[in-house]
Amino acid sequence: MKQLIAGNWKMNLNAAQTVDLIEHLKAEDAADVVICPPFPYLSLARHLLVGSPIQLGAQDCQAAASGAYTGDVSAAMLVDMGCTYVILGHSERRQGHKETSELVLAKAVAAVGQGLNVIICIGETDEENKAGATEKVLLGQLKESIPQGLSARNLVIAYEPVWAIGTGRTASNEEIVAAHAFIRAQLKGLCEDPEHVKILYGGSVNAKNAAEILGLANMGGVLVGGASLKADDFNTIIRAGACE
Ligand code: PEP
Repeated sequence: MKQLIAGNWKMNLNAAQTVDLIEHLKAEDAADVVICPPFPYLSLARHLLVGSPIQLGAQDCQAAASGAYTGDVSAAMLVDMGCTYVILGHSERRQGHKETSELVLAKAVAAVGQGLNVIICIGETDEENKAGATEKVLLGQLKESIPQGLSARNLVIAYEPVWAIGTGRTASNEEIVAAHAFIRAQLKGLCEDPEHVKILYGGSVNAKNAAEILGLANMGGVLVGGASLKADDFNTIIRAGACE
């Protein structure tokens, strides 16, 4: 199974920078690669990626199919723009936009219904981690965010401890392995084909630590924020990805 290297650009870069970054990205056969630019640049990115094995993803979608949802983007629109992936339930949306797991689930239903692969993010806050509540939080988010009937064909889970995102504080290898093993065990009963669902790690992955993180047990790949904005760094991370 190929590892998945996913770049979450968040609300960064302009059109010229999008062109520059994509022109310098180098896909490798060993890993699957997806980049998730902001909505306004999906069309541009799609054209720049013609002929490239790098796939296109979005950072969110609306659960409804169409209608009076000012500012939102539907799953069908993402497919229309060439997306094959969508990130859902990122902690910046769970926290900043008060998104509940129930809403994440509704978005996942809509996205999968349109043929998108969903990357569902879960993770505990620093407070929850310190209180020893990590597993309880992960289990709750898993149970409440994953629609019935998904399988490794369209479901990816990203374990992203909130305290590790954009902080430079990566979770320890032991913490990552333990969380991934816990998630893998809990997926039984929550989806089909649970042993093949890719479980990614996200949280301050960079060009220096990627190889070590990608070499950990049960590692399906990485979700990368900051380091996905620099071609050299992201290319190094892509090269560290492997076919397990
Ligand atoms: C993210 O945005 O999902 C993320 C992991 O960010 P960073 O790599 O910057 O910590």
